[in-house]
Amino acid sequence: MSRSTRRQFLQMFGAASAAGLGVRPTFAQANGRIVIVGAGFGGATTARYLRQVAPGLEVTLIEPLSEIVTCPFSNDVIAGGTEIGAITHGLGPLTAAGVTLVQDRAAAIDPDARLVRLAGGADVPYDRLVLSPGIDFKPGAIEGYDDDVAQLMPHAWKAGPQTLLLRDQLRAMPDGGVVVMTIPANSFRCPPGPYERASLIAHYLKTEKPRSKIILLDGKDNFSKQPLFEEAWAALYPGLIEWIPFAQGGSLLRVDAASRTVETEFHTQSGDVVNVIPPQRAAAIAYDTGLTGEGDWCTVNQSTFESTIAPNIHILGDAAIAGAMPKSGFSAGSQGKFLAYALAALQAGDEPPAPALINTCYSLVAPDYGISVADVFRIGPEGTLAAVQGAGGVSPREASAEVHKREAAYARGWYASITSEIWG
Ligand code: FAD
Repeated sequence: MSRSTRRQFLQMFGAASAAGLGVRPTFAQANGRIVIVGAGFGGATTARYLRQVAPGLEVTLIEPLSEIVTCPFSNDVIAGGTEIGAITHGLGPLTAAGVTLVQDRAAAIDPDARLVRLAGGADVPYDRLVLSPGIDFKPGAIEGYDDDVAQLMPHAWKAGPQTLLLRDQLRAMPDGGVVVMTIPANSFRCPPGPYERASLIAHYLKTEKPRSKIILLDGKDNFSKQPLFEEAWAALYPGLIEWIPFAQGGSLLRVDAASRTVETEFHTQSGDVVNVIPPQRAAAIAYDTGLTGEGDWCTVNQSTFESTIAPNIHILGDAAIAGAMPKSGFSAGSQGKFLAYALAALQAGDEPPAPALINTCYSLVAPDYGISVADVFRIGPEGTLAAVQGAGGVSPREASAEVHKREAAYARGWYASITSEIWG
């Protein structure tokens, strides 16, 4: 982003936070039961901020995991730059903030009775339900790929054991080995994530196994921050990364786990390490409740994130269609803060504020080489969240090493601040 563009962005960001969030009073008169499913970026942010702005609301958070391992910076764990402990966060601070934590899985929702049924059998009643359950993989989308095969050909698109599995496979691979990564068509969690991963794996290979290479089989013909990635790949990793787009037969059809082989329309490619990122849709609890309608993602009124299918259910984060906002942790956190104010207002009988949301997607192309894209989003003429013209920008092309080093530091700073805000 140029200096003037970044200044405009910061001015807009200031305006956005004042209009949407910063100067709002607390809603002491708001009362009722808010139940939240998922303690990831969207759900935990909503819970945390609800406790701050509406102390009269009962906030219950349902999450089966006792610790959250974040996808942000999991690519750096895979490439050996960060330990998994550094991206693992406990939920204690949420309970300390007054959130009631239910350590269980939401198994079903009855929107008419306003109940969440837990896997353990109990029912949790709500006045308003918030869903931020993330993604699941579309069953049967890739012939031959299932949960068992994912133990041989990891996806590592939900962080945790899969992250370590892919890291360990890379470590065990001999020098001269071939890494194959398959990337789905839009839309999916974290549009620049696969290319950040390819970059950091390339960095690892260049450093530790220089005779190796990485092949990307892609289900599309262009991708997020493509000119910036390609500029960096040419400079840092010449000949190491081969990208095969959709038009050249990049779209994955089937896998054969036994031979570690993937097949597209024009290619059959085996790899020493095969990372399959499967096509995705809203997580099962949202999909199975029918909240995606005929599609893969939940449709919401983007002014309140309330489902267009079931009243009193608000859906945010990766599971929801939020106009032009990408599926990112930054987006989910921004939506969570807004939603806390909107729910507090609704429960107090007030008009919810108009959303003014932000997102920045940072990517590391090497440990000290960062790039980013930033935007501000407001409701546009179509009634959907649209990027505000002139309020965002991308990193400049042909920037100095110093600029990219700073961007890498910004990425780490963003991670430290958002995770301490949510789980710290
Ligand atoms: P999640 O954070 O996935 O949280 C969902 C939670 O819901 C989980 O804890 C899950 O256990 C829980 N859950 C699911 N179903 C149920 C149920 N039935 N009952 C109870 N709980 C349930 N974003 C960025 O902004 N910056 C980055 O640098 C970045 N890097 C990424 C790198 C990779 C490799 C990947 C894969 C993603 C990256 N992302 C990044 C994207 C980011 O991880 C997601 O956009 C973000 O996690 C979405 O938040 P969420 O709340 O929708 O879902």
